[in-house]
Amino acid sequence: MERVLIVGNGYAGLAAARTLSAEAGLSVTMVSAENCPAYVPHLLPELVAGKKAEGEIFLPRDREYEAMGIRFRPGARVEKLSARTRTALLSTGEAVPFDKALIATGAAPWVPENLKPLLAQCGNVVALKRLADALALRKSIDGGATRVVLVGAGRVGMLLAEALKDRGVSVSIVEIGPGILATMLQPDVAERLAPVLAQRRHLKIHTGVGITGFGIDGGNVREVKLSDGTTLSCDIVVLATGVEPNIGFVEGNFPPAEGLSVDSRMETAEPGIYAAGDVVFFETVTGKREAGQLVINARTQGEVAASNIAGRKAACPPMFTGNVVKLDPVIAARIGDIDGTDHADFAVDRSFARATMNGNTVTGFQLIGDPENLRGLVPAVLKKFRPEDIADLLAGRPDLGLAPLLLSRGHVWA
Ligand SMILES: Cc1cc2nc3c(=O)[nH]c(=O)nc-3n(C[C@H](O)[C@H](O)[C@H](O)COP(=O)(O)OP(=O)(O)OC[C@H]3O[C@@H](n4cnc5c(N)ncnc54)[C@H](O)[C@@H]3O)c2cc1C
Repeated sequence: MERVLIVGNGYAGLAAARTLSAEAGLSVTMVSAENCPAYVPHLLPELVAGKKAEGEIFLPRDREYEAMGIRFRPGARVEKLSARTRTALLSTGEAVPFDKALIATGAAPWVPENLKPLLAQCGNVVALKRLADALALRKSIDGGATRVVLVGAGRVGMLLAEALKDRGVSVSIVEIGPGILATMLQPDVAERLAPVLAQRRHLKIHTGVGITGFGIDGGNVREVKLSDGTTLSCDIVVLATGVEPNIGFVEGNFPPAEGLSVDSRMETAEPGIYAAGDVVFFETVTGKREAGQLVINARTQGEVAASNIAGRKAACPPMFTGNVVKLDPVIAARIGDIDGTDHADFAVDRSFARATMNGNTVTGFQLIGDPENLRGLVPAVLKKFRPEDIADLLAGRPDLGLAPLLLSRGHVWA
């Protein structure tokens, strides 16, 4: 029997396990650093806020791991995976030999150097990424913590601040950049969220400031000092400063890069070793090298990798990346690439949308507004529409299949 090792039990690993469970002649082991079933990461902020119970965010159905006929080893981190010896060393001390492997270890928090000692040494500092981090935060809040300093105004930071809005806590976001959601929205687009954020009584956002010092007492951070002279008192510090691919444990011909490189079959430069999900950097449909950042990308890549592991010939379809943040009653979203050479803005109902063009091709959208208006924008990026197509649609030619709501009822934003 061929021995297959899946490292990581997130969306990509689980999709691969589900695909392989139907295959004969394979002995599949899946290991996970976390001691729990696969879960939905985007519900972690709601778990922290007490709006979701732990059991509500798990992905596998009842006894699904047993039903799949795989060996599932939760709580076993791969410390080293050698492509040469085809062996993985686990945190349990066990060595797992394999013939083929899938690396599906997602991303790990990226923490700036000046904050690393705090995370390592202070009991009330958490980098929110995993279920255990979310449960620790929830415990603190349930235990009476009311002042949260959140470092980083990206997707995770903003989602957590939003989830905490009815929780009776005050949240101070500290962002070194000039604005919020900088990796998904251009500054003037992000600025359109100001009226929504102004309604958040529990939230104060400090942008364009660095952290210059801390007041520490009894092993906990009690004060965060900012470069503009402000001192924030706190019960908890949450680091939401970004992520990086989780690849520190791989040994072999894995060229140095931001994330693992794969071909269209999701195979790395090491034959028989595949990778999928946020651990991979791939070329998107707009020609950028990026991590997937979306559940659908992780699942698709996991399925494609598993099909190839099983000996079939499968290739990944063109993919785009994106992010969505809900700040009730609106969403902020990015689809595709927002660094084009040109753009056009549209108003639709209660939404604002910006289409980014690179030369004559639509490469991405940003949307602030009604989630309904987001529907259908995807084909414009995937099918590489031209600006004229948008103009045609605006003129009432809906045959291109692009968001009818956005484009047939839209008009150019004055
Ligand atoms: C707050 C938040 C909001 C999000 N919102 C959305 C959204 O609205 N829509 C959307 O599509 N996507 C969203 N995402 C992104 C989405 O969750 C990820 O793209 C997706 O989870 C990636 O799946 P993955 O399987 O690659 O990695 P992960 O889900 O991160 O799973 C990786 C697994 O590997 C395990 N692992 C890591 N290292 C090791 C090791 N050495 N040994 C063994 N196991 C290891 C980890 O413990 C983890 O279980 C959000 C993410 C977050 C955090």
